[in-house]
Amino acid sequence: MVKCKECDAEIKILDDSIEGEIVACPDCGSSYELIKSENGFDIKPAQVVGEDWGQ
Ligand SMILES: [Zn+2]
Repeated sequence: MVKCKECDAEIKILDDSIEGEIVACPDCGSSYELIKSENGFDIKPAQVVGEDWGQ
């Protein structure tokens, strides 16, 4: 279980989830990418496709 960085709602992570999977906050709809951590999974904001971040 992780908490949304935007609204602090709890986001459920399934046992069979994999690193890189995209999860969405049930409250605010923010998208996050799962990343492996020592205690399971953590989340980071998902990159928005089409955004130009420069090279
Ligand atoms: Zn949220």
